[in-house]
Amino acid sequence: MATQTKEKPARKEGMYEVVMEQFAHAADIMNLDPGVRKILSKTNTEIEVNFPVRLDNGKIEVFTGYRVQHNNALGPYKGGLRYHDTVDLDAARALAIWMTWKTALAGLPFGGAKGGIHINPKNYSKSELERITRRFTYALGDNIGPDLDIPAPDVNTNAQIMAWIADTFSSTKSPSTRFVNLHVVTGKPVGAGGLAGRDRATGFGVVSNIKFWAKHKGFNLKGAKFIVQGFGNVGYWTAHFLIKEGAKLIAVQDVSATLHDEKGIDAEALLKYSMDNGRSLKGYKGAKEYDPAAFWGLDCEIVVPAALGNQITEQNAGAIKAKLVAEGANGPTDIHGEAILKKNGVDIIPDILCNSGGVIGSYYEWLQNKRAEIWKIDQVLEMIHDKLETSFEKVVAEAKAHKVDWRMGAYIAALRRLEDTYMDRGIFP
Ligand code: NAD
Repeated sequence: MATQTKEKPARKEGMYEVVMEQFAHAADIMNLDPGVRKILSKTNTEIEVNFPVRLDNGKIEVFTGYRVQHNNALGPYKGGLRYHDTVDLDAARALAIWMTWKTALAGLPFGGAKGGIHINPKNYSKSELERITRRFTYALGDNIGPDLDIPAPDVNTNAQIMAWIADTFSSTKSPSTRFVNLHVVTGKPVGAGGLAGRDRATGFGVVSNIKFWAKHKGFNLKGAKFIVQGFGNVGYWTAHFLIKEGAKLIAVQDVSATLHDEKGIDAEALLKYSMDNGRSLKGYKGAKEYDPAAFWGLDCEIVVPAALGNQITEQNAGAIKAKLVAEGANGPTDIHGEAILKKNGVDIIPDILCNSGGVIGSYYEWLQNKRAEIWKIDQVLEMIHDKLETSFEKVVAEAKAHKVDWRMGAYIAALRRLEDTYMDRGIFP
């Protein structure tokens, strides 16, 4: 079993401190215009709503939801909604800021936002979650909208939840405008105006980026061993597409268990088990349970964090033996963890590039709804792949030009686009 780095208390910044430190570093390197730096240092709008819902047992509970809108210089705010007990203003702020960089880097006509509800959804029935979602949507009111702020799925939210949001939002408007509001959210089920392929867009994009990295480095993905933290939307689809490239999934960790098998884990069988088991991997018989603390140190070539933020820290980064960390999650590597990875020569495909296939897919869903068209999955995946290739090349070029790592390359490309927009447009009045 792999050994872990010596235990010491981790220095723990929140995700907000991490994103602000990354931003400050990039702004210094590229000499970002001081006025633009001031604007981007703040969020535009922060919304906190408390709303009551009647539970199945007849009692009333009051929930707290958030929507933070960081910046909309490039277009309507865009970003996911998370249902988790770590959701608070600071987390929503950090994730909203990362969305601004991500949409800017991807060349999309969107800004950045994020939000969610402080809740553990496992404690509620499906009908309670429906009422919570609908009442949250109602509480947000016209602070979201198809040309203002367009939520999407994130941790513990899915196509079903997006369908409830779209239906609630549209139902509060005149029936004559119902279909003009369909694109108030993306990530809807295909039958409710969703895009074929949006379900897999993020994981597909993570693997597209891994393929670009492999080509760039002359690395052969056939037989390469990889591990994935998180087996939800991003983790499963990443595993699915990477196995298709000939790579071998040797370990998976979710909130309930860590599984390991050197012969390779069958991602499809694991998905079926998890769906039948309340989305939990605990008890799966096709692989052995493994020490969670030793997960990151497993012998493999590629590590894919696809769960929460701040998972790779100074406590475990030194144990990572892989050549590549592909950030499926948002903010999975903290500042100290990143410094250790860099010192050890581990490549990082940064989150704002690596998982941007999701928001690119969302953009195509938004366009499809706006144009009242229906697109085919192959066409969608090809468009996502092409956009990602452009972003990847931009990141590598900026990194080379400034002699910096790929995260800074990605930041510089994103911030340059925002800076140009402010320079061309000026500031009202
Ligand atoms: P999800 O809810 O579908 O899955 C989350 C997974 O993480 C689950 O398997 C859960 O068990 C696991 N997890 C939670 N806490 C954990 C812990 N402490 N240790 C180990 N595993 C844990 O969420 P998702 O949509 O797949 O999102 C995962 C990450 O990817 C998030 O950081 C999210 O912001 C990011 N992301 C998602 C999308 C998208 O389209 N869904 C797009 C871009 C980025």
